[in-house]
Amino acid sequence: MNTSFGQSSAVLSIKRGAVVHINSRTGTHLHTKSKFPFLLSLSFSTTTPRAARATASMSHHKQLAAAKKAASVAARLCQKVQTALLQSDVQSKSDKSPVTVADYGSQAIVSLILEKELTAIPLSLVAEEDSGDLRKEESRETLHRITELVNDTFASDGTINISTVSEEDVLKAIDTGKSEGGPHGQHWVLDPIDGTKGFVRGQQYAIALALLDEGKVVLGVLACPNLPLSSIAKSDFSSSEDKVGCLFFAEVGGGTYMQSLDGSPPTKVHVSTNENPEEASFFESYEAAHSSHDLSSLIASKLGVKAPPVRIDSQAKYGALSRGDGSIYLRFPRRGYVEKIWDHAAGYIVVAEAGGVVNDAGGKPLDFSKGRYLDLDTGIVVTNQKLMPALLKAVQESISEKASSL
Ligand code: AMP
Ligand code: MG
Repeated sequence: MNTSFGQSSAVLSIKRGAVVHINSRTGTHLHTKSKFPFLLSLSFSTTTPRAARATASMSHHKQLAAAKKAASVAARLCQKVQTALLQSDVQSKSDKSPVTVADYGSQAIVSLILEKELTAIPLSLVAEEDSGDLRKEESRETLHRITELVNDTFASDGTINISTVSEEDVLKAIDTGKSEGGPHGQHWVLDPIDGTKGFVRGQQYAIALALLDEGKVVLGVLACPNLPLSSIAKSDFSSSEDKVGCLFFAEVGGGTYMQSLDGSPPTKVHVSTNENPEEASFFESYEAAHSSHDLSSLIASKLGVKAPPVRIDSQAKYGALSRGDGSIYLRFPRRGYVEKIWDHAAGYIVVAEAGGVVNDAGGKPLDFSKGRYLDLDTGIVVTNQKLMPALLKAVQESISEKASSL
């Protein structure tokens, strides 16, 4: 049987009263009977963003502090919504609106805090959401609810010096996220809720925020509200004593640190030093639709990996790997799927600064300078420096084998 952190964290959520399933985020429609009557359809925006003109005149240190604050406060909003979702009735649980509200709310909070804290440079944000649907008449109630949540979250945090925001402020803040990124200047990269499926199941998700400078990731923050502070390696995830809520952060050349989301002192983390694939354990997506479990299982058997896969949602996988909970992360989306930079930028630097390597399946480093998308070969493989050559060999052999068996 697979060790699935997704499954096991359901133990936590069952205690809070919920295990929920939800469809993908596209093609949604309005539900008015729900406890969360705010369902929206989402669309991709092609609007040209404000160019990021600024070059780095400010130390990354100040930007890192702002990013940590932004992700932590956004995580609080998300947790509030997730708790309400887990306590809601069955009908509400099949409604996509809670995740929609949390997604927009999280993006608005991050945008507003970065704007407030970092006045020296005009904000360029590459983020998943835009306000197109939220501006429609049928979304009035949703927008009202998001604005209320953002204001409540700011009000309950004594450290945020932002006065009450209006609905228009929220829409504008969300639309800051329309930047196209690219190889020049500075661009923030945000996934306001990475792992939405985990979010609605009451399991793992992350707020993932990174900064690109001249096309390179120079800092990253991963807020993982449901990830235990102690290692999830070999855990049965049933311990109610486990404190949850991790904040990982990394700055180029400065290493990776982890602290609790409620503010314990940070500790430096390192990837596993394991050189023996037989002793390795590996992470992969909980959702089989996001990454081929068959291919990863073939790779694992070629390498001699004995442990079952650890399946969790979101970039929490990168966080867990950065502190050595497991030594390999494998991701093989279906053919034709194009990865977005916000699904990997923060995770990439958290792992790289902890001593790990993130490559595509062909062994090339990820290139975040191409705009909103990653242009990569087949999949993403993550491990420590010692295991990477053997891992890439097993990956190539397994991909060839699979192709010839078709
Ligand atoms: P994970 O938590 O590993 O399942 O990855 C979550 C991320 O996968 C989401 O934020 C989506 O952006 C992304 N995603 C959505 N659809 C797919 C797909 N078909 N293949 C791979 N990734 C996807
Ligand atoms: Mg994502």
